Amino acid sequence: MKVTVDANICAGFGVCLGLCPEVFELHDDGYAVVLVGEVPEEHEEAVRAAVGQCPANAISVSD
Ligand code: SF4
Repeated sequence: MKVTVDANICAGFGVCLGLCPEVFELHDDGYAVVLVGEVPEEHEEAVRAAVGQCPANAISVSD
C-alpha cells in the first residue's frame, strides 16, 4: 500500500502523526509528509485510520 498527503490541502492538524508517527512526519512548513515509499503491513491499519480521521481529507492510499 502506498500513501500520499496533499500538501496543498493538509492543514497541519497532526492527527496522522499521532496515529502513525512511523509513516507521517510534520514538515517545518506545517504540513505532513510521508516517510515511506511502501507502508509496512503492520502500519496499514493505522494509516487507514488516519485517512478516515484527517480533518482535511488530505490523505490518500492506493494498493
Ligand atoms: S491529519 Fe491530515 S491535515 Fe492533519 S497533518 Fe495529517 S494530513 Fe495534514
